[in-house]
Amino acid sequence: MSSSKPDRERVDIAEIDVVVVGAGFAGCYMLHRVREMGLSVRAFETSSGVGGTWYWNRYPGARCDIESMEYSYQFSEELQQEWEWSERYSPQSEILAYINHVADRFDLRRDIQFETRVTSAHFDETGRRWHVVTDRGDELSAQFCIMATGCLSSTNTPDFPGLDAFEGDWVHTGDWPHEGVDFSGKRVGVIGTGSSGIQSIPLIALESDHLTVFQRTANYSVPANNRPMDPQVQAKVKADYRAFRQRNSEMPFGAFADVGRREESAVLATEEERAEHYDYWWIEGGLTFLASYGDLMFDADANATAASYVRGKIRELVDDPEVAEILIPDQVFGCKRLCADTGYFETFNRSNVDLVDVRKSPIEEITPTGLRTGDAEYALDVIVFATGFDAMTGALLGIDIRGRDGQTLGEKWSAGPRTYLGLGTAGFPNLFTITGPGSPSVLANMVPAIEQHVNWISDCIQYLRDAGLHEIEASIDAEDAWVDHVNEVANMTLFPGCNSWYLGANVPGKPRVFMPYIGFPMYVEKCEEVVAKNYEGFVTS
Ligand SMILES: Cc1cc2nc3c(=O)[nH]c(=O)nc-3n(C[C@H](O)[C@H](O)[C@H](O)COP(=O)(O)OP(=O)(O)OC[C@H]3O[C@@H](n4cnc5c(N)ncnc54)[C@H](O)[C@@H]3O)c2cc1C
Repeated sequence: MSSSKPDRERVDIAEIDVVVVGAGFAGCYMLHRVREMGLSVRAFETSSGVGGTWYWNRYPGARCDIESMEYSYQFSEELQQEWEWSERYSPQSEILAYINHVADRFDLRRDIQFETRVTSAHFDETGRRWHVVTDRGDELSAQFCIMATGCLSSTNTPDFPGLDAFEGDWVHTGDWPHEGVDFSGKRVGVIGTGSSGIQSIPLIALESDHLTVFQRTANYSVPANNRPMDPQVQAKVKADYRAFRQRNSEMPFGAFADVGRREESAVLATEEERAEHYDYWWIEGGLTFLASYGDLMFDADANATAASYVRGKIRELVDDPEVAEILIPDQVFGCKRLCADTGYFETFNRSNVDLVDVRKSPIEEITPTGLRTGDAEYALDVIVFATGFDAMTGALLGIDIRGRDGQTLGEKWSAGPRTYLGLGTAGFPNLFTITGPGSPSVLANMVPAIEQHVNWISDCIQYLRDAGLHEIEASIDAEDAWVDHVNEVANMTLFPGCNSWYLGANVPGKPRVFMPYIGFPMYVEKCEEVVAKNYEGFVTS
């Protein structure tokens, strides 16, 4: 006799304590922490390995631009002592090897289900549990659902007409083929000149027959001055890694402590002092240039001095004055993510490289044999989309998440993300977001920012268990006040002053809301205060 039960009831639904979505830096450490707490946990990851960003972004030149001694975990003293970084800014392959080492060392893989995308997470108010479903048919019931889905994991590919009929190959830097891309003898087009474009363009130019770069917005970039790791520097940091981490945690971006906290004002310096100062930071290399004076992101006149210095450098580096003018940004310095490069501007002096200003003459369509702008057609064998991500909210909104009363996260965030501390959102009990919008996230050294969130979430779960409580949820009042505060802080700076992905401006139709919280130390203090006041601003039951 056939059963009359609906299919749903026949499914064996595993009951666990915690579901973790994603296995990058955030998901891996979260899994480790909850397992240490003795909770049952399952992590799901779309890709076939750990690493997140460093699994997906295998394009030539991909590397971190926060120094590796800082861009690494600190939760295990043994781990930070045993791992040796080979370069000041390690390449993608080395960071991926590191996170694989972490997965081996802490035996993480046994609780990660790879090649599995979480498609939905619905909160069951009666059972007070999250019902989680994957694209492979898994169904789980978990008390806590933790989103470690990444701020920069949902690739943004512009919807140009004709892409389907393109007869060559096309790739996105954020989903790079594992076997690599053979550019030899090829006519290549790179669309986009943000961080990924700026890192990959010099190497693609070397490998390809001809490279055309399609630029919509010129970006500021400073030399990375990457170099082999100085063993003495590495040994010095390791001799007191704890103090090094502490110093960095007190910095606005959670990094750069050992190059010094610079509080001087650019506007108060004389022209000669400024020139000497900027020369020093230009040669030193890296994103610390943004912190070379204390007022660069607060005072428009101060900012203009840095902008003018970098524009002058571009004019020096690029031989053809017309090309240099196209490469010179006109926006506020640093309000789009500052890039760090190795030979980017010099690449445009090569005879096999052309630059096309698509702000002047936009891309109209991809043709079977290349690409057509408003005034010309370009024959291409390979198109590289270095067009970035649907940042901070893309991966979260890619999952059908429903909280109380069946409200979807998409509905709740229709006018932009709303969270309390970037950790939780009202109406979605026991759902945590690691480096969610409203937290320092992409405006901090992200590995320490991730660890701080994972530690906070773990402590919170432990608190609930110890107190015999089942649920925690941001209160709407605390959330509203926090969103106002995030905006207030952003508006004290020059960061919201241009069409950046921090504001969602790179994705058509995305609400313009400044998403990251500026100021890592103040943020950490606030999180600690909330805990000290028994999770003030959250409702528990
Ligand atoms: C090229 C590049 C360079 C960067 N360099 C730096 C740097 O120098 N310094 C810095 O601080 N930050 C840098 N970042 C930011 C970087 O994203 C973070 O530092 C960090 O790696 C994020 O880790 P994560 O675990 O939070 O997210 P991710 O590494 O993005 O991992 C999230 C994972 O979740 C998975 N996932 C998403 N949705 C689902 C789903 N529905 N189901 C299952 N799995 C899912 C994804 O496949 C992904 O693997 C860089 C980013 C990029 C793209």
